[in-house]
Amino acid sequence: MEIRLENLTKVFVEKKQKETIAVNDMTLTIPSGKLIGLLGPSGCGKSTTLFMISGLLKPTSGKIFFGNDDVTKLAAEKRGIGLVFQNYALYPHMTVQQNIMFPLENLNVKRDEAIERTYDMAKLVGIEELLDRKPGQLSGGQQQRVAIARALVKKPRVLLLDEPLSNLDARLRLQTREEIKRIQRETGITTIFVTHDQEEAMSISDEIVVMNYGVTQQMGEPQKVYTNPDNLFVSKFLGNPPINILEGRISKGKLFAGEIELADGFDMENRNVTIGIRPEDFKVDANGFEAKITYMECIGRDTTIRFPLNESSMRALIDSESLVESDKINLTVRKEKVHLFDPE
Ligand code: ADP
Repeated sequence: MEIRLENLTKVFVEKKQKETIAVNDMTLTIPSGKLIGLLGPSGCGKSTTLFMISGLLKPTSGKIFFGNDDVTKLAAEKRGIGLVFQNYALYPHMTVQQNIMFPLENLNVKRDEAIERTYDMAKLVGIEELLDRKPGQLSGGQQQRVAIARALVKKPRVLLLDEPLSNLDARLRLQTREEIKRIQRETGITTIFVTHDQEEAMSISDEIVVMNYGVTQQMGEPQKVYTNPDNLFVSKFLGNPPINILEGRISKGKLFAGEIELADGFDMENRNVTIGIRPEDFKVDANGFEAKITYMECIGRDTTIRFPLNESSMRALIDSESLVESDKINLTVRKEKVHLFDPE
């Protein structure tokens, strides 16, 4: 089921007429059968977008289509969506089986069929052994699987997940995100996954949508967005350790940071630029510029070093074996690995 947002906007008006534009003129197409990560800093409008798609929130303007159906005015329960929140929202007094089966109660599904569908879903998410337990007897990861099974038992057209891993510890988060990916692949259900965690979104998504201040900044396959960020915000938001940002200038096709020539061959007029270089894109090269190492941290195969460049502190990730001296190193960066933006 393809989802299309057309000029979707949500303005919250609070007391004293204070307005917040939570989602601002968002237009995008979410391809059928894909897992899309909706990503951005806290407060950028991710949940508001998800709630509008689910029908729990009415847009101020704009439209939402599921395939060719305009669902903008359709009630949430008629949209055919499955929702999963970070706090699982399970009924504590019911067993796992009763929790998963609950959405079928109002659907006139026969009891035998409901039990069978519940078992199938429990099996899909890997908790078929736990059907008689109560939520309080489950780990956080298991509870989230129950919530996913409950969201899927109605055979929804779309699965919406709002920060589903936030309440899990690091190990369970990793495991559960792999599970979500597998479940999504097996069911082929169009899924939107909201998170503020770039690594989580990059690892799980077929495509990511990066948002800031209610506006889509870029959409695409994670690796493509990472290597070709459309703007400074996207370049800074993706990557851990983060991209290095410094001021520089283009002069006669060469890129300078202060007096240091970083790369050559730019087909551009002379001008000031903001430069972005990812830590892994510095390479050790005897002919490169000399970097004075101010800090060093060996993390196995790679070593993180810091050095100043045109008044900015840079971070480079280099092969530990290529470090000969502890106070300086010669580095280069390939022209293709340099990101140039207009100065802020
Ligand atoms: P995110 O999910 O990316 O953290 P939200 O969609 O929750 O962001 O919020 C986007 C913006 O809208 C924020 O500035 C938030 O404070 C505001 N907002 C969200 N819900 C309401 C509401 N019910 N009333 C007023 N402002 C709201």
